[in-house]
Amino acid sequence: MKKSRLILFACFFISTIILLAWFALQQIKQESLTNIKNSLQTVVQTTHEGLQLWIKHRQDDLLGVSHDGQVIKLTAALVAEYTNQKPLIESNNLQQLRDIIITKMRIHRDLGFYIIAPNKINIAALNDNDINKVNSIFKIRPEYTQRILSGETLFIPPILLEENGNYLYENTQMPSHSIFVATPLFDEHRNILAILALQIDPSLGFTRVTQLGRIGETGETYAFDNEGLLITNSRFDEQLKAIGLISQNEQSMLSIKITDPGINLLENPHIVVKNQQLPLTFMIKSATSGKSTYNIDGYRDYRGVPVFGAWIWDNELDIGIATEIDIKEALTPYYRTRTLILFIVLVVAALSFGGVYMWLLLDRKAKHSLEQILKELEDKVDERTKELQLLSYQDGLTGVANRRMFDHSLEKEWRRGQRSHQPLTLMMIDIDSFKPYNDNYGHQQGDACLKQVAQILASEAKRATDVLARYGGEEFALLLPNTSLEQALIIAEKCRKKVADSQILHEFGDVDHLNVVTVSIGVSVMIPTLGLSSNMLVEAADKCLYIAKRNGRNRVEPTD
Ligand code: GH3
Ligand code: MG
Ligand code: MG
Repeated sequence: MKKSRLILFACFFISTIILLAWFALQQIKQESLTNIKNSLQTVVQTTHEGLQLWIKHRQDDLLGVSHDGQVIKLTAALVAEYTNQKPLIESNNLQQLRDIIITKMRIHRDLGFYIIAPNKINIAALNDNDINKVNSIFKIRPEYTQRILSGETLFIPPILLEENGNYLYENTQMPSHSIFVATPLFDEHRNILAILALQIDPSLGFTRVTQLGRIGETGETYAFDNEGLLITNSRFDEQLKAIGLISQNEQSMLSIKITDPGINLLENPHIVVKNQQLPLTFMIKSATSGKSTYNIDGYRDYRGVPVFGAWIWDNELDIGIATEIDIKEALTPYYRTRTLILFIVLVVAALSFGGVYMWLLLDRKAKHSLEQILKELEDKVDERTKELQLLSYQDGLTGVANRRMFDHSLEKEWRRGQRSHQPLTLMMIDIDSFKPYNDNYGHQQGDACLKQVAQILASEAKRATDVLARYGGEEFALLLPNTSLEQALIIAEKCRKKVADSQILHEFGDVDHLNVVTVSIGVSVMIPTLGLSSNMLVEAADKCLYIAKRNGRNRVEPTD
């Protein structure tokens, strides 16, 4: 009962601990998720603002060029030449325009420039090859043309150009991707003359800004267009090559459509997926529908890795920016705390059950030793009781049986004799003239004499059933079961003779010619039958003893 109650208590205790730990973990998880959400939103907002600032800065630069009087004048002249179908390549106006704009381009290491007539034909460019051709921007991103022609200054997201032209700077290669800022060129009547577009290396400012928004090992910030195409380089180019999403010499920019492969490709690199045909990721669907929000429930990114994310859709720039982090990394602190708490709960549980077990063990041991002590005590009590019993059947002075033992034995042997019809002999033995012995030698000497006589008589009670008892004073009784008169007389005679022969000095006795202690013995024998009693046996022996005394002592007197 006690044991089961103790175990029940331990179970209750541990259940409470587990419940508390569970609540604490839920709380910690919620807080972790809120922190992650805040970090992601901060990063995506900062990156967005960084991009806006950088684009604004480049647009202002461009406006500086487009408002340059010389540029406007030269452009107007070129437009006129173009309208008159003069060969532009040889135009002096073109050379002058190139000189002015190249000087501006060098400040930001820009890649090239185009002056585009409203009919989308290049009328000026860094390279002769581009002149008189339809401008690539409007081939690839025609949606921007109308906005520029209606007066807007625009940022144009990355474009992969088929022909890259000459590179203006030494020791470096022309990048394959370009972004543009474009603005209209007005004449003095605010009529649009042409469009001025600056070709910019995306790796210098645009991608750099997004690269700053990287948290931890797996956090990445990237931009995408309204069709879900990646327009910055991925942080995971090496992984993307390893899982075959892009080829070895390809860049992720403009090659990756941000779609959900439905499976973690990093864990299943052998699975080949057609990136373009898959459904857009949860984030892209939300962002391209114009939403700026976050997700901390988890979704798959374009590698199929479960991530948390926050994103912004910029209507003006017509691009989106997202920050994502692998769930595994984001929740690492939470997982660590969880492991620690689980460990603590386990330790507490082990200690509780261990404690209960030890307690029960000790309790059982304590009980066991208590039982043992009690048993030892009982044994001792038994032993003492037996000793006491023995003492109560013993004569204190002589050590032979006492009167009580004699009565007890007499009754027992009498009954046994009744059953077995065997003769029972009783001798009454009395020391002769003991009063004068005591009077003359003193009480102590008397006691010593009594002991000596008792020892002599005891040596003749040979069988296990024979009983020698001190009957009272200086009188002894010897009870001999299964003993006939003849045998009894022999023993009685032996007793008498032994006492006399032991030569205990007694100079004041009443026995003729002897100065030693002697005894007189009355012997009676009966087969216990109905009509007789043990008292009669005692009386008969007494009577014989009396006769022995009267006849001169130091003698044996049998019953007749
Ligand atoms: P009889 O020969 O007729 O037996 O004479 P008796 O002197 O032996 O008999 P009596 O009955 O006159 O005296 C017995 C004496 O035994 C009296 C007492 O002093 C002595 N006595 C009895 N019990 C003890 C005892 O325990 N110790 C000692 N020292 N003496 C005892
Ligand atoms: Mg006597
Ligand atoms: Mg006597």
